[in-house]
Amino acid sequence: MRNGAARTHPRSSRPRADSPQTDDLSRRCDHPGCTEHGGFRAPKSRRSLNDYYWFCLDHVREYNRSWDYYKGMSPGEIEAEMRRDTTWQRPSWPLGRIGLGTDERVLDPFGLLGAKQAPPKTEPAEAPQELRAPLATLDLAWPVTRTDVKRAYKALAKRHHPDANSGDKAAEDRLKTINAAYTTLIRALPATGG
Ligand SMILES: [Zn+2]
Repeated sequence: MRNGAARTHPRSSRPRADSPQTDDLSRRCDHPGCTEHGGFRAPKSRRSLNDYYWFCLDHVREYNRSWDYYKGMSPGEIEAEMRRDTTWQRPSWPLGRIGLGTDERVLDPFGLLGAKQAPPKTEPAEAPQELRAPLATLDLAWPVTRTDVKRAYKALAKRHHPDANSGDKAAEDRLKTINAAYTTLIRALPATGG
């Protein structure tokens, strides 16, 4: 035993993700699927520093990498950061800010934050060049299925059928365009089932 116990170690105001530990051997690592002893605690976020996850050594190390953000900051700077982030609605911690401007990204290395996190934004797939005009004709947005094409075609063919337009020539031409668009799209799309 060391002698300095009378002088309580001052609690660092800088968030520490790993220092205190537990002797509670029944505690399991909070990492999903991990059955190791969860002997290392880690703040759930910089906004709830008294609320902890418990991890095994490997997982607390992994977790702590997300805290590098605070490296080199004074306690005052950290607090300013925390205040600046009052719009955050839930526990989160930063991924870093290189090239991110004011848009803060949230790091959730273990998926512990649940489904609330927004899915990554993906660009909508672009339609093949040769299908763009036919898609526009049928008023469809890529990607489409054969069912989509058939449904759209049916509605348009009915509306533009000469019988429904007193033999109007313009409607007839329009129907030809619709027919061609339909044929192009159906040929381009893979058949599914029957
Ligand atoms: Zn673990």
